[in-house]
Amino acid sequence: MMAVALAAPMSTQAQTHFNGAKALEYTRQFVAIGPRWPTSPGHVKAEQFLRSHFQHDQLEEDAFTANTPIGAVPMRNFIVRFPGKKNGVIVLATHYETNYYLKNINFVGANDGGATTGLLMAIADQLRGKTLDGYSVWLVFFDGEEAIQSWTDSDSTYGSRHLAARWGRDGTLGRVKAFILADMIGDKDLDIQRESQSTDWLVALVRQAAKKFGYDHYFFQKEEAVSDDHLPFVRRGVPSIDIIDLDYGPNNSYHHTAKDTLDKVSAKSLAIDGDVFLETIRLLGQR
Ligand SMILES: [Zn+2]
Repeated sequence: MMAVALAAPMSTQAQTHFNGAKALEYTRQFVAIGPRWPTSPGHVKAEQFLRSHFQHDQLEEDAFTANTPIGAVPMRNFIVRFPGKKNGVIVLATHYETNYYLKNINFVGANDGGATTGLLMAIADQLRGKTLDGYSVWLVFFDGEEAIQSWTDSDSTYGSRHLAARWGRDGTLGRVKAFILADMIGDKDLDIQRESQSTDWLVALVRQAAKKFGYDHYFFQKEEAVSDDHLPFVRRGVPSIDIIDLDYGPNNSYHHTAKDTLDKVSAKSLAIDGDVFLETIRLLGQR
């Protein structure tokens, strides 16, 4: 009797933390595809990986043609929907492709695109198979976040600009309560910036979620403006936040280099991310 009584609270506590090891394993599988820049065979494999993984979920493929400095490039966003009881939608997003202009180095984007793809796959495992108590949660895997040649407003964020425009035209944006972007937050040395174009109340809500787990020091110690996939949604008035760690390796030396490999990513960082994302979803449902 006593052993049972002791075991019960322990197992309950064990379940309160997100499974970062599983997110890392998904990341490993995805990154094993190799470079996945637009028009590459690796990109086709990455598309097939997402299509196969989410085949039993409400998956929408959002194919479009991007007008880029190298001409028309076919691109494809993936949207996975998990329905909730409340009327409204929370979007969690990442990008999944790697940089076209890094095609001549072995750039696999383990942290940049890979880790947050694994993170969203592991979050999906927590959302699947039930009607959520709060808002519906839509996971979005953007294509074409990275520049084709070099970053400008028109050579970057192809997938998010396309989807925000489409959802603006068809009225979907009016249902989006919050847009939450994850980028480069698998880094073992996790220090997430307070991105200055993000919506203040949503930043405060994420801060509150982090505090619950004692993760305050990983979040928002520095403020910086970052151009990323949240901006097309910010510009259309959608409450949005970019949860990004743009400080990757000594003097940022792993960012957009062949050093962005799986050994720089940790299950611990992904567990922190997952805990905070799921708690943020819960808090949003109470608003
Ligand atoms: Zn990048």
